[in-house]
Amino acid sequence: KNTYDVIIIGGGPIGIACALEAEKKNLSYLILEKGCLVNSLYHYPTNMTFFSTSEKLELNGIPFISNNPKPRKAEALEYYRRITTSNELNINLFEKVTEVASKENLHSITTTKNNYTAKNVVVATGFYDIPNYLNIPGEDLPKVAHYYGDPHYYATLKTIVVGASNSAVDAALEIFRKGGEVTMIVRQEEIGRRVKYWVRPDIDNRIKEGSIKAIFNANLKEIRENEVVIETPDGEQTLENDFVLMLTGYRPNFEFLKKMGIKLSGDGRKIPQYDEETMETNVKGIYLAGVICGGVETHKWFIENSRVHAKMIMEDLAKKAKA
Ligand code: FAD
Repeated sequence: KNTYDVIIIGGGPIGIACALEAEKKNLSYLILEKGCLVNSLYHYPTNMTFFSTSEKLELNGIPFISNNPKPRKAEALEYYRRITTSNELNINLFEKVTEVASKENLHSITTTKNNYTAKNVVVATGFYDIPNYLNIPGEDLPKVAHYYGDPHYYATLKTIVVGASNSAVDAALEIFRKGGEVTMIVRQEEIGRRVKYWVRPDIDNRIKEGSIKAIFNANLKEIRENEVVIETPDGEQTLENDFVLMLTGYRPNFEFLKKMGIKLSGDGRKIPQYDEETMETNVKGIYLAGVICGGVETHKWFIENSRVHAKMIMEDLAKKAKA
């Protein structure tokens, strides 16, 4: 019962790309997604604009029509949703994979709802589920968020944004423009170097003119109900505060990979072990696809450079099926 050629864990863009390729190769497949369709994307900031142009986000050559060169979140949701519905992809939503046990070329997959067996497994679980926590007192207060949604929520209020990369900068600019009072707490001495080149002048100038406050070489030390404590080169400061947005990045679920038997590099980068031609990991029949491949380097793989994984994997599976 329930034996598939391949089970794909994760219904993000790359999981969907894998399903489209599996169909082309006549492989039976099922996507298991713990949340809604393209769950990570759904949780991105409401007004988020992709840094990629729309054709670079396309799967299987299906045109992604967008009015502007760089599509917005809502357009991307529309695109991936239409691909899923019009191709009638086989996907179970709100079903989380909790365990994969492998023996003799067969994998038993346990989810929150069912058990399956599959000859192969693709792990396309992304990196957006686990925030990099600061582990400081007060981090669990309801006024603290590790995900940013909509600027309106912060209007007229004092908001601390921790971090200085793209998500932190985008949030700081939006909240400032909707009437929030923003202070950025930046660990380094400057705004991150990977900040999109067309956004950089905007944030630099807002900081220079003082409309967004930024404290560099600083660390958030404690969060309290109505204030925060920060460590700065000039000593400790206490600031009045309503909300804290910790946009300090996310990381893949390394425990999940390790539990499956996938080895991670020991150099701190935690790069999972896989064959660069087939994407197969050190566990026979378990493959990796998408942003998960980068270990802690979550900026290394994205949609436009990892959608090709789908083809590589399904070609290998088709070859194996014939052998
Ligand atoms: P994801 O989209 O993260 O999908 C993984 C899926 O797996 C999720 O839906 C998750 O719910 C599910 N999952 C996780 N664990 C389990 C489990 N145990 N069981 C079942 N399901 C599970 N990339 C670009 O190419 N261009 C851009 O312009 C761009 N802009 C970005 C902007 C922001 C703000 C962010 C955060 C990222 C951006 N990226 C961009 C990166 C892009 O989002 C990722 O490259 C892309 O989502 C990777 O797709 P994926 O399918 O590998 O992972």
